[in-house]
Amino acid sequence: MKNEVFERSLAAYICFAIGDALGATTEFMLPREIKEKYGIHDKIIGGGWLHLKSGNVTDDTEMSLALGESILETGGYSVQGAAEHFAKWMKKKPVDIGSTVRRGIVNFITKGSVVSLYSTFSAGNGAAMRNLPVVLYCLKDWKWFEEMTISQCHITHNNELSDMTTLVLGEVTKVLIETGDKKAALEIVSELIKKDPSFSHSKYNGEASGYIKDTFRTVMHYFFDSDNLYETIVRTVNQGGDADTNGAIAGMLAGALYGMEGIPSKWLKALDQDVVKLITKQTEDLLNAHMDVVLL
Ligand code: MN
Ligand code: MN
Repeated sequence: MKNEVFERSLAAYICFAIGDALGATTEFMLPREIKEKYGIHDKIIGGGWLHLKSGNVTDDTEMSLALGESILETGGYSVQGAAEHFAKWMKKKPVDIGSTVRRGIVNFITKGSVVSLYSTFSAGNGAAMRNLPVVLYCLKDWKWFEEMTISQCHITHNNELSDMTTLVLGEVTKVLIETGDKKAALEIVSELIKKDPSFSHSKYNGEASGYIKDTFRTVMHYFFDSDNLYETIVRTVNQGGDADTNGAIAGMLAGALYGMEGIPSKWLKALDQDVVKLITKQTEDLLNAHMDVVLL
């Protein structure tokens, strides 16, 4: 059982990075443009508007790794530690950074603030996209999950839609890793839709922007409508829009459900091997790390 949890956790993190690397190629494109250029885009080839090197990942994976690293280096979660690691990451001039993320980190560097100002404009997916390390760390003691998640989110995104979605994505990821039960995942998603029907993915309209509800609906539509890992990720990134982030989150859920054996070996080989190593080590360490939490 223990090994199974590790295996699904690792697959979730690796597929998150795969979705990021694959989606970077089609980010901000329209489905029609993708079709014209690639037919079906399913190869890790880099390029895209970032002119990414093949196999490389973007801010989504890098910020997740930074957050995970902060937990492991601090010897527990601290909001200060998380903000410092985000700042360290930004100073290395990443290949991409979202505007809300940048604003939040600058706010921390200049004012020491770890809570960004509330804004209706911070309903982007930039905080939700980096929360997987918190999920993995909290698997052993879930009581800290909500507070830790909100705390890391608010460093850059202080918005209730972002909070709500990030929490639900975490709950879904947890249940998939622990049980591999897609129906249990659907129950959690349905609870949210009952509370706010605008999250519903049942009549998916193809909107795949970085707005948190678009991301949620895109990911859930393709996750529940596909039967395997390949399809889930490929269909998501071929929807364009915020394809790397949506692809990463879809990949996270698909990896958690289908496990390592669902991953096409050509993707595993094409992904930057340093990233694979970092993710493998971090997954193992987060699952084993002792719980210690300092919130603010
Ligand atoms: Mn990105
Ligand atoms: Mn993106």
